[in-house]
Amino acid sequence: MRHTDILIVGQGIAGTLLSYELMRAGKSVLVLDQPTGHQASLVASAVLNPLIGKSWTVAKDAEMLIPLAARTYRLLEQILDAALLSEKSLLVFHRHEEDAANFEQQTRTGNPYIALPCEDTIEQLKLQWIIPRSIGQVTPVFTIDAALLLSKWKQYLQSRASFIEEQFLYNGLSLAAGKLVYKDIRADKIVFCEGATGRKNPFFPVQNFTANRGDALILSIPGLATGSIYQRGIRLVPKSDGLFWCGSNYTWKYETLNPDLGWQKETLIELESWLKLPFELVSHLVAERPTTAGQVPILAQHAEYTNMFCFNGLGTRGFSAGPYLAGQMAAMVTS
Ligand SMILES: Cc1cc2nc3c(=O)[nH]c(=O)nc-3n(C[C@H](O)[C@H](O)[C@H](O)COP(=O)(O)OP(=O)(O)OC[C@H]3O[C@@H](n4cnc5c(N)ncnc54)[C@H](O)[C@@H]3O)c2cc1C
Repeated sequence: MRHTDILIVGQGIAGTLLSYELMRAGKSVLVLDQPTGHQASLVASAVLNPLIGKSWTVAKDAEMLIPLAARTYRLLEQILDAALLSEKSLLVFHRHEEDAANFEQQTRTGNPYIALPCEDTIEQLKLQWIIPRSIGQVTPVFTIDAALLLSKWKQYLQSRASFIEEQFLYNGLSLAAGKLVYKDIRADKIVFCEGATGRKNPFFPVQNFTANRGDALILSIPGLATGSIYQRGIRLVPKSDGLFWCGSNYTWKYETLNPDLGWQKETLIELESWLKLPFELVSHLVAERPTTAGQVPILAQHAEYTNMFCFNGLGTRGFSAGPYLAGQMAAMVTS
């Protein structure tokens, strides 16, 4: 029988950041994860953006969350010897007068993140894009190389015998006399971080825990500058492998996680109408965002089995709010 202080189920961004925080607090962890091909953390654009689209106002807590997140990813870069965080600007091509007016209004109210791009930038953009009358710029925004972070963190855990690639079965957990036993593992505590599949977790039937699906396209666009994220309704986000992430939609009613080919076609037509460069579709990804009705993350302790916890419901903000929330969750688990 092996012993661990804390057994963690799921290694998306939630399980990754939580295991990091718990190890920092001196705890031993054992992470169980079985990839599904639809992990939200690997489908996400993983952008840290301080502003709320449309109104272009500063998002609640962004001034605390984003610098804290950037610091956490920088520390992980040092531990994992990997470039995870890139600073970018977000170029917004306004489709509607109202959007442009909201943006201009924010420049007048001293919003520190937004500006109007200079003439040189606009001239450069005109070579590659059909430019609308009005363009805005948001800086700084950050992208995280999520695939690299998750794979490097998995290797890091493996090198410490702290990772097992397998599906956790809820009915395999024994709770006799307050002890947590799963197969040959004895754990003082367990934290569930299963993302959207967590809404089937029998130990945490959290009311309002739901999910919405998002599709994303991976595109090859030779020649397109990779220093910026481009937004005109849909977003094009440069990836570290030279490809571009393109998305996304929010679908509340769906029966499968098969690619939405209608959305794919519309998106490619839309892109063709404003991008002058040729591009090629490389793949179409789909995942569910784990969320709650009020978009309140789930940081919960079981009422009866007090050594059982749930860290989930990160919604659209797993990468930006995740580092702060993982710190809060770790404090709850270790107190
Ligand atoms: C299209 C799209 C775009 C997004 N863009 C952004 C963005 O720009 N910025 C941002 O901050 N957020 C973004 N998000 C949201 C972000 O992706 C999520 O908030 C975050 O990834 C959720 O992470 P998670 O770890 O909770 O879930 P997941 O990433 O789904 O991870 C859960 C893990 O648990 C594993 N698992 C589940 N059940 C079991 C089991 N029984 N046994 C073993 N393993 C199990 C799964 O295989 C998976 O590896 C986006 C999401 C989508 C879909």
